[in-house]
Amino acid sequence: MERRELELHYQPKVDLRTGRTSGTEALVRWRHPRKGLLPPAQFIPLAEEIGVIAPLGVWVLREACRQSKAWQDEGLPPLRVAVNISASQLRQNLLDDVVAALKDSRLEPKWLELEITESVVMQNASESIGMLERLSRMGIHLSIDDFGTGYSSLSYLKRFPLSTLKIDGSFIQDISRNPQDAAIVQAIVALAHSLRLMVVAEGVENEAQLDCVRSLGSDEYQGFLHSEPLPAFEFGRFLKAGLGLPLLGSLAAPAA
Ligand code: C2E
Ligand code: MG
Ligand code: MG
Repeated sequence: MERRELELHYQPKVDLRTGRTSGTEALVRWRHPRKGLLPPAQFIPLAEEIGVIAPLGVWVLREACRQSKAWQDEGLPPLRVAVNISASQLRQNLLDDVVAALKDSRLEPKWLELEITESVVMQNASESIGMLERLSRMGIHLSIDDFGTGYSSLSYLKRFPLSTLKIDGSFIQDISRNPQDAAIVQAIVALAHSLRLMVVAEGVENEAQLDCVRSLGSDEYQGFLHSEPLPAFEFGRFLKAGLGLPLLGSLAAPAA
């Protein structure tokens, strides 16, 4: 962090009805001077272990809000930006950090989404409910990430002020060949919709998977089929290209 080697990449979420980009997820990477670009699995668990996940989480939150507002200021249509939240952030002062990140970036709360995995929510259920309610009342969207993999209790779905369930990619992987995966996805969609929650299918890599998640009623999807997570300037170009706008100004690639 001190050497400014962390960066955020952005992956679009796509509305299955309109085909339009409906939002984006910020995913952290470490541009290591010798090892190259490291995925979060290679340093997030370590950051947790040695106790630096809190400042890392604050940096991610602030950077995602800053970048999102910068795109808005460049005239791009506003997109909700989602940030992944770790267990220790939920236990510590997430509310203060979110308020500060929004204030300093001047991003409106409705353009921020927090993605929390089931197991993290459940570990902190009773302590975090009040804070999640306050975040939700501010207009921030709350999603459950990797839904279906973490915990068997569904009681939190009625207690927490959620807006979205993200179906874990492991159910999408074989969905076009495995009727059990399709049945699980169909059931999650039915559960979510009856609770008035949106559904995002994660990890859609090919047309067959896309056809399945569409026919099973998912609202949105995310995956390599549409786009990999992109560095910020490339994501800006991707958005402009999708709108048929010229790739001018600060969205062009920075000089090396
Ligand atoms: P996640 O939040 O479930 O993010 C989705 C992961 O799936 C990302 O991996 C993304 O690159 C990958 N992905 C997207 N589309 C596809 C696809 O079509 N196929 C496949 N096979 N994979 C796809 P990534 O970026 O390596 O992140 C892994 C996990 O690390 C994330 O899972 C999230 O739990 C965590 N993470 C990422 N950024 C942060 C962060 O800033 N803070 C915290 N606390 N955790 C983060
Ligand atoms: Mg996520
Ligand atoms: Mg996920």
